[in-house]
Amino acid sequence: MITYEQQIAVRLEQVINRMTNICQQQQRSSPMLLAVSKTRAADEVRTLLNAGVKNFGENYLQEALDKQQQLTDSNICWHFIGPIQSNKTRPIAEHFDWVHSIDRIKLASRLSKQRPPTLHPLQVCLQINIDNETSKSGFSVQEAVDAAINISQLPQLQLRGLMCIPEKRHHSPDQQQPFANLAILMATINQRLPKNIPPLDTLSMGMSNDMEAAITEGATIVRIGTALFGPRQ
Ligand SMILES: *Cc1c(COP(=O)(O)O)cnc(C)c1O
Repeated sequence: MITYEQQIAVRLEQVINRMTNICQQQQRSSPMLLAVSKTRAADEVRTLLNAGVKNFGENYLQEALDKQQQLTDSNICWHFIGPIQSNKTRPIAEHFDWVHSIDRIKLASRLSKQRPPTLHPLQVCLQINIDNETSKSGFSVQEAVDAAINISQLPQLQLRGLMCIPEKRHHSPDQQQPFANLAILMATINQRLPKNIPPLDTLSMGMSNDMEAAITEGATIVRIGTALFGPRQ
């Protein structure tokens, strides 16, 4: 019998091997591994934490807050990656280190106002609707430059970069295009940001099925759920 701990350790090793292989092939350093723990119990998070993972991503606010309550003794770096309702920004501003899913300027200004001044600035990414899908949220590529300039001025936020969830594509060469487009958009934004603003340095892109394509195009954070925890119910 193989225990849950052993299973997690094997999956983590597989994910790290995939990351190492593609990074060697591309001659680049490894991106941050963000473990996406939505729908997983606090115990499962703890198992992965004990195996050496430090960054965890959550999509549902109440579920995340409950889990954090059970893990107060850890120093996990918590990332919010799900859709945000305007009336739920305060607990996000108070209980997370990163937010990847900023899709409206109004959300950013609320998070900045509500970020406790005793904490370091909230690290944020703009979510970009890179394939222009009607079903997905995010700024359009056209809106993104002005939004970034605007949000970069907010005092309690540090605008770090861009995040995307592309349309599903099955083959790796097709998967690369939207990630390449996100990288180009970040370069464009960096040329246009005021000189006193540090350049964006974060591309949050790539999930279990497309992380090689994302790393090839410059991902600095990959968000991995299924490949670490197994299939979700
Ligand atoms: C669920 C989720 C992931 C992880 O997806 P997997 O395919 O399970 O790796 C990554 N990013 C976001 C925004 C998600 O909602």
